[in-house]
Amino acid sequence: MLIMDSYWWFILPGILLGLYAQIKLKSAYSRYSRVPTNSGITGAAAAREILDSVGLHAMPVNEVGGHLTDHYDPMKKALFLSSENYHGRSLAAVGVAAHEAGHALQHKAAYAPLNIRMALVPVTQIASTAVTWIFVLGMVMGIAKLATVAVVVFGIIALFQMITLPVEFDASRRAKQQLVNLGLVDGQEIPGVSKVLSAAAMTYVAAMVASLFTLLHFIMIARGSDRD
Ligand SMILES: [Zn+2]
Repeated sequence: MLIMDSYWWFILPGILLGLYAQIKLKSAYSRYSRVPTNSGITGAAAAREILDSVGLHAMPVNEVGGHLTDHYDPMKKALFLSSENYHGRSLAAVGVAAHEAGHALQHKAAYAPLNIRMALVPVTQIASTAVTWIFVLGMVMGIAKLATVAVVVFGIIALFQMITLPVEFDASRRAKQQLVNLGLVDGQEIPGVSKVLSAAAMTYVAAMVASLFTLLHFIMIARGSDRD
C-alpha cells in the first residue's frame, strides 16, 4: 500500500507537467492557427518547398485524418500532415508542416540522434507492451518482485524519450531556418511559429520527466527489496 501511495507522488510531477504542456500547446496552436502567413502558403506547399530545396523531390506529402497527427515516417520516407495543417495557411499550419519536413532533412543528413532514436524503436515497443504486464503482474505478485524488470523497462523508455528531445528541437530549428531562407515566412512571423513549436516540444519534455520519475521510483523499490 505504501508503495502505491509513494508511486502517485512520484508520477504526479510528470502528470502535472504533461497537463500544463497540453494546455500550452492547445492555446498556442489555436491562437496561431488564426494568424495567416504573409506569403499565403499552405502547410503542404511549405513542406513541399522545403523538401524540394534539398532535392527530396520524390518524397510524398500526404494528408492524414485526425488532430495534430502530423508526422514524418522514416520507413515510408513520407510526410503525413493533418488536414488542418495540410490545407491551412496559418503560422501554426506552416510551422508544424515545416517541422515535419525538418525530420526528413535530419534523415537525409543522417543526423545521429535521429538514427539512434530509430534504432531504439523496436526495443521501446517491447518495453511499452511490458509496462502493462508489470502493472498486472505487480498487483498479483507484489511490485517489489518485479522491480528489477521495471527498472530495465522504464530505463529503455526514458532513454528513448531522452534521445527524442534533441531530435524534436533540431527539427524545429531546421524548420524555422528553411522557412526564412526560402522566404515562406518573414522574420517577424518567426516568433509565432516558435511559440507553437516550443509548446509542442514541451509535451516531449513532460513525457521524459514522467518516465524519469517512474524510473527513479522503481530504482528505489529495487534497492529496497535488495536489502530484504
Ligand atoms: Zn517532431
